Amino acid sequence: MTTPDGPETSDPGDPPDTGDGSDPRDTSDTGSDGGAEFGFETLAIHAGQDPDPTTGAVVTPIYQTSTYAQEAVGKHQGYEYSRTANPTRTALQQCLAALEGADHGLAFASGLAAEHAVLHLLEPNDHILIPHDAYGGTYRLVARVQGPRGLEFTPVDLSDLDAVAAAWRPETRLVWVETPTNPLLSIVDIEAVARFAHERGALVVVDNTFATPYLQRPLALGADVVVHSSTKYLGGHSDVVGGLVATKDPGVAEQLAFLQNAVGAVPGPFDCFLTLRGIKTLAVRMDRHCATAAAVVELLGNHPKVDRVFYPGRADHPGHEVAARQMRGFGGMVSFTVAAGEDAALEVARSTRLWTLAESLGAVESLIEHPHRMTHASVADSPLAVDPALLRLSVGLETANDLLGDLRQALDRVG
Ligand SMILES: *Cc1c(COP(=O)(O)O)cnc(C)c1O
Repeated sequence: MTTPDGPETSDPGDPPDTGDGSDPRDTSDTGSDGGAEFGFETLAIHAGQDPDPTTGAVVTPIYQTSTYAQEAVGKHQGYEYSRTANPTRTALQQCLAALEGADHGLAFASGLAAEHAVLHLLEPNDHILIPHDAYGGTYRLVARVQGPRGLEFTPVDLSDLDAVAAAWRPETRLVWVETPTNPLLSIVDIEAVARFAHERGALVVVDNTFATPYLQRPLALGADVVVHSSTKYLGGHSDVVGGLVATKDPGVAEQLAFLQNAVGAVPGPFDCFLTLRGIKTLAVRMDRHCATAAAVVELLGNHPKVDRVFYPGRADHPGHEVAARQMRGFGGMVSFTVAAGEDAALEVARSTRLWTLAESLGAVESLIEHPHRMTHASVADSPLAVDPALLRLSVGLETANDLLGDLRQALDRVG
């Protein structure tokens, strides 16, 4: 692991010295202890978001500023330069930390920028395990950006601890977990992987994008770091790209805050505002995503044109028991195969009217996509290839009966 040099003192973008030893860039006053007395919805609406001290504004303002007036050299209110710290970003970071039961939150310009910062904790010749069905962008980042710079990696089925043990090396430093995975919604037992990794001195990172902190809290299950693409459920409205990291580990947080400032892949204040606004309704949105997804799964399971349905809420899903234990609900993502094969699947994807044919996920609009030719096209000729008859749904928040009716008419159409 790298140890950053620590901040220099002359650059205008350096971490601020607030005089009282506090650092406005990270952490929250509603961290693991302070947050415990409030429920999730309360934290989502209030953590890090006290009324604005200067005006009383109830909503955290968009501090659209790059710099901050100083009373005298080095005498300021905790903010010097917005790459280093911005009050709208601080509010988002504190809110996320509270929701994940962390002490430190960090916001980045995208999910992949957040992942890149976490992978920067490693050194050349370190070895990591990644999911055999990792998010494509994560695989590309590891294999084509970090790999050529010396990072060693092995894709593994992380739901199989024997496979994890077989892939383990003396220089394995980190396990990168996704659960549920994309697009087959496989489940990894976070607690079991964390125990195994910690016995061997490695860190566990969980990409919690599909579950969100409302459905799953990886740090409470033993993970060291949580990453998010806030582009998906946290933002929730298909209008902002962003990434977040949460951790309780002060050493990791310090290194990440250094990288956040030194590399500079930070979100602007308006993006932070949009993400904060999305998070306020996360709990009610996730409840509805889960309920409508269950109805969609029921329809698909009984439809003669459908072959297999992948959803962790189904009793026949291999990860069902673990999911029931470590998640509050089973989420809004559903995948299924069309019995008649790829052409029929393409026809279903073409025939829906309400379900928009598009990549991405986790927003108010329902989306349908064909992983083999869309999100997973880059792995089509590899062992990671997905079944060409597979379709993936991101179940949105439209009227459930409208969504069910549209899916039924599209399925009824195919031969
Ligand atoms: C979208 C996504 C990412 C990448 O996030 P961006 O915000 O697009 O950079 C990472 N992990 C998962 C699971 C995702 O769905």
